Amino acid sequence: MELLKTTGVVIRQTKVKENDLIITIFTKDFGVIRAAAKGARGFKNQRAAGTSLFAYSEFVLLPGKDLYRVQSCDLIESFYSLTSNIERLAFATYIADLTGYTVQEEEGTERLLSLFLNTFYLFARWGGELRTVKCVYELKLLEYLGFSPYLEGCTLCGKEDTTYFSPKEGGLVCENCHSVQMQKISPACKNAMQYILESDDKKAFAFRLSPEVLYELEYHVGSLLTSSIDHTFYSLDYLKTVLGN
Ligand SMILES: [Zn+2]
Repeated sequence: MELLKTTGVVIRQTKVKENDLIITIFTKDFGVIRAAAKGARGFKNQRAAGTSLFAYSEFVLLPGKDLYRVQSCDLIESFYSLTSNIERLAFATYIADLTGYTVQEEEGTERLLSLFLNTFYLFARWGGELRTVKCVYELKLLEYLGFSPYLEGCTLCGKEDTTYFSPKEGGLVCENCHSVQMQKISPACKNAMQYILESDDKKAFAFRLSPEVLYELEYHVGSLLTSSIDHTFYSLDYLKTVLGN
């Protein structure tokens, strides 16, 4: 079988037998895949660094029946420093989890991987508000998955003036169409969502929000995520515990 070359980030790692690993890789060319790395846990193994958790590496893979096989790998960037800070690690673990669950083995993931890498760089090194970074990634991922919220006007009647956000309807709702369970959305929060969705991936992180608007953004993006992806992420619960909310 033909060997395949790609780059990707190790988003999960499972130990099997004494020296072997099964790793989940978010790749540039094939989406999220699982690969066996034989002998990768050996101390002197050159594959140990490249297959470690959150390593961004170049992989040479052999396709198999259920799993790919790592033939060789070269570390490009290690995000290992994340593991020394409990809060940063919790952010990264959740984003890795979310990506591993929602992205399949599929083509055309180059742009999403680049956004993922930008997110990880910020988680590893940035001194700013990481909850904003998380929101940006979540919203852009939802867009990638086809769950982009409708922000042009009321999703139900098209009216321009909107004051509510409904994850169930998938966007903004006006005063006339809203129902009791819908939550209000402020103009600042609408603008933030619009900015994130319209900006290219690097610029999307370059904004600041007041704590109130950030709280609101987290709430609406979080509820959109829950209604679009029916899954409980324990890593998100853990992140919330670490952040104290
Ligand atoms: Zn309406």
